[in-house]
Amino acid sequence: MNGEERDPDGGAGGGGPGATPASATLGGSGERGVLDEVFAVLAGQPTGGVLVGPGDDTALLAVRRGAVLATTDTMVRDRDWRDAWSSGYDVGVKIVTQNLADLASMGGVGTGLLVTLVAPTDLPVSWARELTEGIAWAAGRAGVPVVGGDLSSAPPGFVSVSVTALGELGSGVHSPVLRSGARPGDVLAVSGPLGRSGAGWWLLEEGHAGGRDPDALALLEHHRRPLTDLAQGPLAARAGATSMIDVSDGLVRDGDRLARASGVHLVLSEPAVEGLAARLRPAVPREVALAQVLGGGEEHELLATFPSRAEVPPGWVHLGSVEPSDGSAEESSPWTPGVWWRGEPARPELGGWDHFGG
Ligand SMILES: [Mg+2]
Repeated sequence: MNGEERDPDGGAGGGGPGATPASATLGGSGERGVLDEVFAVLAGQPTGGVLVGPGDDTALLAVRRGAVLATTDTMVRDRDWRDAWSSGYDVGVKIVTQNLADLASMGGVGTGLLVTLVAPTDLPVSWARELTEGIAWAAGRAGVPVVGGDLSSAPPGFVSVSVTALGELGSGVHSPVLRSGARPGDVLAVSGPLGRSGAGWWLLEEGHAGGRDPDALALLEHHRRPLTDLAQGPLAARAGATSMIDVSDGLVRDGDRLARASGVHLVLSEPAVEGLAARLRPAVPREVALAQVLGGGEEHELLATFPSRAEVPPGWVHLGSVEPSDGSAEESSPWTPGVWWRGEPARPELGGWDHFGG
């Protein structure tokens, strides 16, 4: 990881041209005015590999290798964030983390980001600027440039932010790590804590602003601005990871995706899961901690399988084992590939976030 490591709070509202009044809206400033703000924020970002950056019809990036990784994520106001809980800066950090964690989970690193903002004309320019500052900070932390984007208008009330991330396999990584490579006998591990974002969300739902409790504040911070060590993806790939996914929708739900793609059972270790839950206490109650470790989304740590305990990289948490499945596609069969917890298939209510409630 390269780039500066400053406090994200320090980024909002600072620097830039400062010529736009606080009351300015997208409609009042016009596209040119908003883009001037955006380009001012992006000035000084990493340029390695960027042959033509923002400002032309298309960016041109150098390609070191013969294959490009590509992924995208969209956030919609009142679906993926609430203005009462999250600033534009927070949204910017979160959407970059989401995209770069997807690249990391393949053993990749980012080479460029494309950003699209769709918003009504009455959106404050200051929000768009804060969004750009959050994106620029999180991208700069990972050494990834913003190379282009789009600005489009929306009906009143609707705001969405999309990021498309381009990347390549990390150095020393010879093939992408897929979801489908886990084999019986492998061990399951995660790159760091789980449930922080979900526990932070729970605190906000409870009307808890964190107060002076540093543990609670850290959970709120991770909910608003999740940051993970993206270098762990290529590192795990080099260590021999057989499958990998980032935990975006919860351990059980993302584990289920990996298990199904690989045709195996992922059997969670109860002491390991309880150990992760213990890290969330006493900021949240025990049952909440356990539920968020199993089901909490937007964590963006990496879940991976390795041939043996010896290959699990330092700092990763051993989380369970990979067991054979009969590969049945029948939903009702207990032998269908999936996650096992406390001796049975993991219950759907522990299954994490699903965008369409399924
Ligand atoms: Mg993902």
